[in-house]
Amino acid sequence: MTSCRDDEKFVILRHDVDAKPWNSLKTAQIEHSLGAKATYYFRVGSESNVPEVIRSIAKLGHEIGYHYEDMSLCGGDVDKAWSHFQTWLAYFRQYYAVETICMHGAPTSKWDGKDLWKKYDYKSLGIIGEPYMDTDYSDVFYLTDTGRCWDGYKVSVRDKIPGYQDEWTKAGLTWHTTPQLIRAIETNQLPKHVMITTHPQRWTNSTEEWYKEFVLQKAKNIVKRILLMMK
Ligand SMILES: [Zn+2]
Repeated sequence: MTSCRDDEKFVILRHDVDAKPWNSLKTAQIEHSLGAKATYYFRVGSESNVPEVIRSIAKLGHEIGYHYEDMSLCGGDVDKAWSHFQTWLAYFRQYYAVETICMHGAPTSKWDGKDLWKKYDYKSLGIIGEPYMDTDYSDVFYLTDTGRCWDGYKVSVRDKIPGYQDEWTKAGLTWHTTPQLIRAIETNQLPKHVMITTHPQRWTNSTEEWYKEFVLQKAKNIVKRILLMMK
């Protein structure tokens, strides 16, 4: 996922389709009109998994991946989770030749999805990359909209890169709002290699929807802070 020449700039544009899949289709259309390609990771539940949306996003030339949460869905039973993972990977491969997967953070679940890989190997199924397992974060800077801002790693339970985040913060690579981030990009402050994760369900151009998301995420961040304190 990260092999390239050092002097070459790249952005891995990742979208976790946690909910509201039609928002993802809108995002995919905007990116398509701008000539950008992204990867959309879908969950198994109907809050994310809408075949019409998956097909349409793939048709626009984007990549489709599996946003897996098999450990939580199988109550932490690693063998059950492995078989569940294979079933659903095959399901998503009906729509797209899936080659990458990405863990769904599930902050309220007590199971860490990556624990599945302590016993099993996704590479045996032709998967070539998982962002949390295969990205060299000494080379790739990570940005996520988790927590409804660009510095939400402070409250994230699982969507963060321990170890490297402190160095990025020390280097001043931290922005809160989207206009701040855009300014940083325009003034060339970003490292050459970047992974950007967004959750399209959080993005809207309607004021009413924006406030709904604002209040909901404020509340969620409080819960996540409490979860982190209890760890
Ligand atoms: Zn997710």
